[in-house]
Amino acid sequence: MGVAYSSPDSALTRITVVYRCPCGAAVSEVGRHAGILPLGWERLADEKCICAHCVERLREGAPAPA
Ligand SMILES: [Zn+2]
Repeated sequence: MGVAYSSPDSALTRITVVYRCPCGAAVSEVGRHAGILPLGWERLADEKCICAHCVERLREGAPAPA
């Protein structure tokens, strides 16, 4: 789980990054946005990030998703 990189054409021009949250949410970012977390998402560790929904839960005191 975490961040997966794939480069169908060129690693420099066609980068797609898929962010997956432990809750099942997934968002992909392409091109110049690759490497930048989607709005509202937060990175917990190098290969672990959580979606905006889980960020809200964390702020409300819920334990971090596994
Ligand atoms: Zn989530």
